[in-house]
Amino acid sequence: MAADRKVVIIGSGPAGLTAALYAARGNLSPLLVEGLEAGGQLTLTSLVENYPGFRNGIQGPDLMEEMRQQAAHFGTEIVQGNVVRADLSKRPFRIDLADGRTVTTQALIIATGASARWLEIGSDRKLAGRGVSTCATCDGYFFRNRPIAVVGGGDSAMEEAIYLSRLASQVTVIHRRDSLRASKIMQDKAFANPKIKFIWDSEIAEVNDVAKGEVTSITVRNLKTGHLSEVPLEGVFIAIGHTPNTSLFKGQIELDQNGYIVTHHGTHTSVEGVFAAGDVQDHVYRQAVTAAGTGCMAALDAERWLEGIPEEEESPATTSQTTA
Ligand code: NAP
Repeated sequence: MAADRKVVIIGSGPAGLTAALYAARGNLSPLLVEGLEAGGQLTLTSLVENYPGFRNGIQGPDLMEEMRQQAAHFGTEIVQGNVVRADLSKRPFRIDLADGRTVTTQALIIATGASARWLEIGSDRKLAGRGVSTCATCDGYFFRNRPIAVVGGGDSAMEEAIYLSRLASQVTVIHRRDSLRASKIMQDKAFANPKIKFIWDSEIAEVNDVAKGEVTSITVRNLKTGHLSEVPLEGVFIAIGHTPNTSLFKGQIELDQNGYIVTHHGTHTSVEGVFAAGDVQDHVYRQAVTAAGTGCMAALDAERWLEGIPEEEESPATTSQTTA
C-alpha cells in the first residue's frame, strides 16, 4: 500500500516543530498533527529567558508561534486534530484522528511531550503563570528574594527546591508523607540547605488568592490531624511528576517503567521507522532547547532511514493523497 506521506509528526511543541522544520527543509513535505494542547508546555509559561537567541527573553506562546510559522514557511503542512489511534503494527503506519480523518506514513516522529501533574484543587491551575508554576528553571527567576513553596518529595521536588533556594528568600517544601522519595544525595543536600524548610504530612488545600489573580498564601492541610494553616508566600512550584503522553503507543513500542518511550542510536525507537523526540522520551533534561535538539535529530534520523528503505516501500509525499 502506498503511503500518503513520507513523514508524519505528532506533536507541536519545540521537538515536533523542529523536526518539522528539518524534515521540510529536507524536502520530505512533512505533515504535522498539532494536538489539543497546541504548542505544548511552553504555551503555559510566560517569559522564556533560557532559549538561546533572545537576549531579552521571549514569551512562551510567542516562541511557539515563531517556530510554527517557521516550520510552515518551509513547507510543513500543519493540521489540527486529536490523534485517537496510531497503528504501528505494519508499514505504512496509520494515524486516525478523532474527526474521522486518516493518514498513512512511511516514517513517524512522535513528539507528544509530557504533561506536568497538577494538584487537582482548581486554584493551582487558575493561578498557573501567575505565581504557580511546574518549572523552576523556567520561572524561578521571577521569584528572587521572595518566599515560595515547592510541592512534592521526589528528586524533581528536591532539585527544584535546591535550585530555587539560590533565588528565593525562603523555600518551603510541602510533602504529603513524613519521608522523602528523593535519592539520599538529594535529600542530604536539601536538609543541609538553610533556606529550605519542610512541612511534613501535609497537602496544599488551596492556593490563595484566585480573586486577586496572584499568589498571596497557601492553605495547608495536615493530613494526620486535619488542621488547616495559612502560609504567606508569593509562589508555588508543583513538582509531583510528569506523565508522558504515550497512551496511544502502549503495547506497540518499548516504553520504560514510567511510560517514557525508549530511544536508542539517537531517536530510533523499538519500531523501525518510528522516531521519538522531546519530553516524551526524556525525563531528565526536559528543556525547550533539548526538545528542539532531539526534534532535529529525529528528522535527520528519519531522513537517513527513508533513504535506506527499499524502493517499492517508498512512495511520494503528495498532499493530494493525504486524507488528514
Ligand atoms: P516522582 O519520583 O514520581 O516523585 C513525585 C513526588 O510527588 C513524590 O514524592 C510523591 O509523593 C509526590 N506526589 C505525587 N502525586 C502527588 C499529589 N497528588 N499531591 C502531592 N504530592 C504528590 O517524580 P519526579 O520527582 O518528577 O521524578 C521522576 C523520575 O525522574 C524519578 O525516577 C527521579 O528519580 C528522576 N529524576 C532524577 C533527577 C536527578 O537524578 N537529578 C531529577 C529529577 C527527576 P509520594 O512520595 O508520597 O509518592
